[in-house]
Amino acid sequence: MDFGFEAGDEEFRAEARAWLRAHVDGALDRRSWERILGKAGWIGLSWGETGYGNRSATLTQQVVWAEEYARSEAPTRSGHIGENLLAPTLLAHGTDEQRARFLPPVAAGEELWCQGYSEPGAGSDLAGVSTKAERATDGTYRITGQKIWTSLAHEADWCFVLARTEAGSVRHHGLSFLLVPMDQPGRIEVRPIRQMTGTSDFNEVFFDGAHARVEHLVGGEGAGWGVAMSLLGFERGVSTLAQQIGFAGELGRVVRTAVKSGAVADPVVRERLVRQWAELRVMRWNALRTLGGSGDAGAPSVAKLLWGGWHQRLGELAMLVRGAGAGVGPAEWSAEAPYELDAAQHLFMFSRADTIYGGSDQIQRTIIAERVLGLPREPKGVV
Ligand SMILES: Cc1cc2nc3c(=O)[nH]c(=O)nc-3n(C[C@H](O)[C@H](O)[C@H](O)COP(=O)(O)OP(=O)(O)OC[C@H]3O[C@@H](n4cnc5c(N)ncnc54)[C@H](O)[C@@H]3O)c2cc1C
Repeated sequence: MDFGFEAGDEEFRAEARAWLRAHVDGALDRRSWERILGKAGWIGLSWGETGYGNRSATLTQQVVWAEEYARSEAPTRSGHIGENLLAPTLLAHGTDEQRARFLPPVAAGEELWCQGYSEPGAGSDLAGVSTKAERATDGTYRITGQKIWTSLAHEADWCFVLARTEAGSVRHHGLSFLLVPMDQPGRIEVRPIRQMTGTSDFNEVFFDGAHARVEHLVGGEGAGWGVAMSLLGFERGVSTLAQQIGFAGELGRVVRTAVKSGAVADPVVRERLVRQWAELRVMRWNALRTLGGSGDAGAPSVAKLLWGGWHQRLGELAMLVRGAGAGVGPAEWSAEAPYELDAAQHLFMFSRADTIYGGSDQIQRTIIAERVLGLPREPKGVV
């Protein structure tokens, strides 16, 4: 099946574009923006007809909305973890009570979520999770341990936590998926991690006897690994297409800088710019093919490998065309205070993370090797 837009989609596009034009406002804080989106029914388009306050949209309409969103230069969403990761997980594995409790505030943009998977000793090898959740005499779970790289934990109201509920269990056995309220002073501490960009987008999160209610266990005790893996499989390529619109905008800015700085006279720079453009086209066809259902088991890994490396190379190119001054830090730089970077510096620094999060390049290559090429499985440390 080929993926293509349908007749009603242009009407939907006009509606989305007009709404975004009327409402995007750079002065709004991110939480207020989520509420405005929720109130207008723009959250949860991919959930289907649920009755939990979202508007259901077709796959092509979801793509249209994501594309228009990227074009409008609206703020980066702080609600995407709840909308695109937690909600589909609850729809697949949650109880009716869990769905009724948690989906309406996500659809309304009222409650924000973060993802508590990675730990200092468990990143690519997530089965190394050691955070514990023990049943207390009052029936609640008490969570103790440390998560790291938790995006948006400093803003989130809730966190879904992968924790070990079976004492002495190893690897993916004995893990559970728990919904944990973040407002637990003294029991949950969020420490921002300062990045080389000067900003703090993610955090260390320390749990010291934090409470989670038994009815907030998803999928049953000990079934956490299956739930956690299913959550990671919910990306279907819709956001990849939108991301490419953002990428095209960034590439356009790099081209304009190259023209302005004169770097474009260099044949090597010209070749690299054209290569970026051509690769972006390839990524678009790959995303459309995947959405149309003709991708193979390795399609998400191929997409991740393509865009992660592409974006990093664009960051390097942005610095090159900007000239020698790009390597100079801002005048007001200090180790403590936040500082301003220009667009090229920002792109270069942020894109260093692109080949790590969402599964590193090496892990994606292993998945392709094993699931598509049928190569022998990589030996694991403990079985
Ligand atoms: C911007 C950003 C946001 C993030 N947000 C979140 C979040 O919200 N919640 C969350 O839980 N986590 C989050 N993470 C963490 C992310 O999931 C991990 O960084 C990622 O899983 C890699 O784990 P690690 O950092 O421990 O690196 P490691 O797993 O220690 O890897 C280090 C290096 O070794 C390589 N490597 C590891 N194992 C293998 C192998 N078997 N074969 C070959 N090479 C291997 C890796 O590719 C990498 O190059 C975020 C990370 C980033 C960068």
